[in-house]
Amino acid sequence: MAWRVVVDQALCQGHGVCEAEAPEVFVVAKANTVEVLTPLPEDQLRRAVELAVKYCPTHALSIIEIEATATTGTNEG
Ligand code: SF4
Repeated sequence: MAWRVVVDQALCQGHGVCEAEAPEVFVVAKANTVEVLTPLPEDQLRRAVELAVKYCPTHALSIIEIEATATTGTNEG
């Protein structure tokens, strides 16, 4: 099953814990907001992302499981 990373930017305070745990997935900009580099990380990064979710002090991160049958439509915003 695929999975993706979701950030609640309203909760993110730019602590950077996520970047420390999974620098392949998260980067914290100078404006103290997190940017998700790879919203659909490879499974080998799952453990690191789980730790980022666990240790984010504001609980801004979550992992969503994606049904295998789900289609990826256009993201028109
Ligand atoms: S650890 Fe949480 S609060 Fe800190 S930058 Fe990452 S998402 Fe934002």
